[in-house]
Amino acid sequence: NAEPTDNQPPFSRSAAEFERAKRVIPGGSMRQATWFAPHPPYAVRGEGCWVEDLDGRRILDCANNFFSLVHGHAFPPVVEALRKVVGDGTAFGMPTRHETALAEAIRSRSPRCEQIRFCNSGTEAVMFAVKAARALTGRPAIAKFEGAYHGSYDSLEVSLGSDPSNWDGSGGDPAAVPYDRGTPAGVVADTVVLPYADADRCTAILEREAPRIAAVVLDPLASKIGMVPPPAATIEAIRNAGTRHGILLICDEVITFRLSHAGAHPLFGLEPDLIALGKIIGGGLPVGAVAGPAARMAIFDHTRGQPPVAFGGTFSANPLTMAAGLAALDAFDLPAVDRLNRLGDTLRSRVNAAFTEAGVAAQMTGFGSLFRLHLTAAPIRDYRSCYPDAAAKKALAAIHLTMLDAGVLLTPNCSGALSTPMAAAEISLIAHALVEATLAERTGR
Ligand code: PLP
Repeated sequence: NAEPTDNQPPFSRSAAEFERAKRVIPGGSMRQATWFAPHPPYAVRGEGCWVEDLDGRRILDCANNFFSLVHGHAFPPVVEALRKVVGDGTAFGMPTRHETALAEAIRSRSPRCEQIRFCNSGTEAVMFAVKAARALTGRPAIAKFEGAYHGSYDSLEVSLGSDPSNWDGSGGDPAAVPYDRGTPAGVVADTVVLPYADADRCTAILEREAPRIAAVVLDPLASKIGMVPPPAATIEAIRNAGTRHGILLICDEVITFRLSHAGAHPLFGLEPDLIALGKIIGGGLPVGAVAGPAARMAIFDHTRGQPPVAFGGTFSANPLTMAAGLAALDAFDLPAVDRLNRLGDTLRSRVNAAFTEAGVAAQMTGFGSLFRLHLTAAPIRDYRSCYPDAAAKKALAAIHLTMLDAGVLLTPNCSGALSTPMAAAEISLIAHALVEATLAERTGR
């Protein structure tokens, strides 16, 4: 057990814990997406929007577990809901009423989510939605947008790296680049990559590949694409592919469900055939769900005398997750959503005004309670425009560390999500720290 000692610099309990963890966990932790050198701080406890780390530091949490904790940590109604159900048992090979109650709550917010099936993660949700789309259309391929992340599912882990070396730079069709070693060539071949901001090229690709494409998967505010809404012409291209060729639309709302009471699809005029959900609908516990119109969701119905698309999961719809999710959504009502989105507007306008006033080439994108920093004044249109030069990624990583030193946790690419315990004081703190860190990085002062 590596306890920190005076002769073991850097003296930090988190550093010591990391050394200990590396022996039994490859990379020291499974939190790859939020890892940064030399190691992230270890969390001990959280309350509201604040986290305490192993070294006793208080950190304002804008990462809130990959944007899943819309009410922050240990939200009292969620804690109370968990207390109430935990004594009755944590998982059953039988349905429970908690599952129906959460499905009803989601449907009452979002008419497009007429029926819902629960699973354990957003990755599973995307995977089941893709499986359903393939079964509904009898086609093998899936189209996704260059740069977009949809979980750890290899069919969609294609052309998502934010590493500029993936760029082909030719202005041609985006290449289908596998993200991980071990992705079979057949999987890559069945993934069609679309450019986010070039609707004509999008249409050309969809027309050419239509006979083999089951669905287009779209995250309506993909962080890795820059956290900008899909251009109207791109939405039109997807809609045309649906009407002309029967290509389905899967909206990945694993993150964006928080953007309105009904999710992001109504905000951008999208009419998805299937919707992948996760994160906030579990109230802080592991969750995923596929939702959609009953006619589409019937593909999962095992009671109709036809082989359904299999949708398993030992812990799917467990009562703890369902009760926590219901408590979280009940408290994220229309006024709460509006209030949080307005805080996001305030943050963006304050930060962007400060950048303009200082004449610094930087901007904050986002929508509602989601935000992301960019080190360019040029419009952010797609994955490619997020990193205007190779140095931008390094500079963002440096700003991320400066923010952490200032006591504010963002994701390593300097994006974040607000949570309902935040108020004007926290927005001021984030804005001030972010502007200071960006100016220091950009002007070298
Ligand atoms: N889809 C999107 C847009 C995501 O951001 C994520 C996770 O961050 C996922 C899917 C996968 O969700 P999970 O991490 O719960 O598997």
